[in-house]
Parts: sequence; structure tokens; C-alpha cells
Amino acid sequence: MKFMDEYRDARAAKKYAVLIARLVTKPWTLMEVCGGQTHAIVRYGVDELLPEGITLLHGPGCPVCVTPVELIDKAVQISRRNDVIFTSFGDMLRVPGTQGDLLSSKAAGGDVRMVYSPLDALKIAQENPQKQVVFFAVGFETTAPANAMAVYQAKKQNIQNFSILVSHVLVPPAIEAILSLRGNRVQGFLAAGHVCAVVGYTEYEPLATKYQVPFVVTGFEPLDILQGIYLTVKQLEEGRAEVENQYARCVRREGNLPALQIVRDVFAIVPRKWRGIGEISQSGLGLREEYAEFDAEKRFDLADFTVEESSACISGQVLQGMKKPYECPAFGTICTPEHPLGATMVSTEGACAAYYRYRRPAGVKKSPVTLDLERSP
Ligand code: SF4
Repeated sequence: MKFMDEYRDARAAKKYAVLIARLVTKPWTLMEVCGGQTHAIVRYGVDELLPEGITLLHGPGCPVCVTPVELIDKAVQISRRNDVIFTSFGDMLRVPGTQGDLLSSKAAGGDVRMVYSPLDALKIAQENPQKQVVFFAVGFETTAPANAMAVYQAKKQNIQNFSILVSHVLVPPAIEAILSLRGNRVQGFLAAGHVCAVVGYTEYEPLATKYQVPFVVTGFEPLDILQGIYLTVKQLEEGRAEVENQYARCVRREGNLPALQIVRDVFAIVPRKWRGIGEISQSGLGLREEYAEFDAEKRFDLADFTVEESSACISGQVLQGMKKPYECPAFGTICTPEHPLGATMVSTEGACAAYYRYRRPAGVKKSPVTLDLERSP
């Protein structure tokens, strides 16, 4: 595939691994923020190409993983109403709450539909004026512009039977929370390229200065990731703490200005709870007062849920880079993608799910895995 195979070239990857090995004079611990990067690292064995001194920790950048269980329960509760068409991206349909998932709600008679865009959900609302149409607005800064546009259009066109159930989270506050942790091990970050394609990377500059850690905006293919690691390690070895852009083919420093403007118009920054981590101040987006009528939590009389996460699950520590998935006693035994105990086994982008799929340790229903950049999914 043009513009894809070039970034998965095994020989070029091995050359990059040699360049990284030549740079390293001492151990360094880096974190890739995004679940898509984690998935690529584990799938292609990128970490296994690195010299022993380089440790990669997996960050909290999987939106499905960090959506609180309470919100899944609210989605399920809304979807069971006779007067509602509940719409969502496909990845949220199988995520279990304490009362089942959206697919089981559909099986029980709920009108639950997978859509590819919130604007599709808006169209469904226009076509079904007798129904309330709700869109599950989950994700990081990447999905916020389209969700903001759907709400903006709903208000402009006076579509009153449309609302969104919001669980938007923001990356920089989560990174600052990790950097502020007592015992933080992360010395450099691979920032998520798609998030920066929307918001740019100016927000990382004060973090780099304050905490003296380098950030490299990085893409998602194996060569992107290896180049991101190379640039981060180079900064660390040279004693620099700057923000660099490896993903220049998609990311500009200032980001996508029209996308940022629509997000600012519709959403305000609010505190948000992250599944497995807890509340982080100023780490999410909520609808502004002018758009509050489109807030599904306000529109429906929802019960409040208090959910206890499984005490066996250490996904909070996995999401903050303190533990690897295989260090969890439940990994691959009582916790599997079919029966997830916690956040990071729920989504295919979650670190535990990625290790389960590509890197199960001996004794845990192991399937043969080889170090091969052409490894198939
Ligand atoms: S393997 Fe399961 S129980 Fe263990 S941290 Fe991951 S999600 Fe939680």
C-alpha cells in the first residue's frame, strides 16, 4: 500500500534500531502516550528491537479504556428507553458496564446503531423526529471537533431531538498528572500524532520546560515510532528537554485552527474522571451552558452510579506507566478480552489487550509469537 509499506520496512527499522543502540550510554524510560502506538509497538515487536537500556511504558491514550464504567452504565440505561435511538462508534458497543454492554441492550430490543460520524447521528435525528437520538461522544481531542460540529449544527438547525453523552478527555493534563506522581519513572514522551494534528503541540512546551522532559510528536507506524524513540533518546543523551515533531507530514505546531475554534465554541474545559486513574482536574470537555440543552445527562433522568472496579485489577498503574500488563496476576487468567476485569483489557487499543493478543507469556495459553515486522494482525 502506497504511503504505508514505506513505514513498515523491516530493513529500515533494523537500521534505526542500530542508530538508537549507538546513541545510548545509559538506561532511559520513555512513554508512548497513545493506545494506537502501544498496539503497533507490541504488534510489530518494536520494543524488542531496542537496546536493553531503553524501556517503553504504555500511557493512558486509549479513549475506550479511560471512559468511566459509570458512563457506560448511563449509556446502557438510555439505550433501553423505548423513545431513544442510541448511536455510537463501533468500539464502544462491546465495552461492558455493570449492567451489560450496548450490544446486549440492542439484543434486548433497544434501538442501538453503529455510526461512523456524529453527523450521521444528527441525520438519524432529522429522519426520526418522533424519537430522541443520542450520540455517545467519547474520545480525546481527535474526535472533539466532529462532535462539536454536530452539536453546533443541531442548534443552528433547531434539531431538538438530538443530544450527546459526553466523555471527552484531554491528553496534556493526564501527562502532567503522570509527571507529578511520586515515583514517576517516565523521562521522555512520544506524544500522540493524531491528537497533535488537531491541537498542535504548544501545550507540551511548558510541560517540557517545567518537568525537564523531552516530547517528540510521533506517528503510528513502526518507523515513525522508531524515529520518535531515536529523537527522544538523542535529546536525553544531549541533556535537552524540548518539543520536536517527528510527524511533520500531518502535524503543525499550531494545530488545526478551524477545528480548535469549533471545539472552543461548543465545549468548555471541565474536570473528568478517568477509568482506572480517577478524577484529574481540568482534563476533559463538557458542553458550554449555551449548548446544555444537547447534554444527554441533563435531558434524561439518569440514576447516579457508584461503581467499584475489581480489586484484582491494576489497570490504573498500567495506564500511568507504573506496571506492565504481564505484571498483573489476573492477566490472561481471570482477565481476558472476552471477560475483561479492567479498563486496559476492554479495548483492542488497551495495553493489556495488546499484550494478550500479541505477547502472552509462557503458561498463559501462549500462542507462538515471532519478532517480525511483517507480523500479521
Ligand atoms: S490484565 Fe486485566 S485485571 Fe490486570 S491490569 Fe489488565 S485489565 Fe486489569
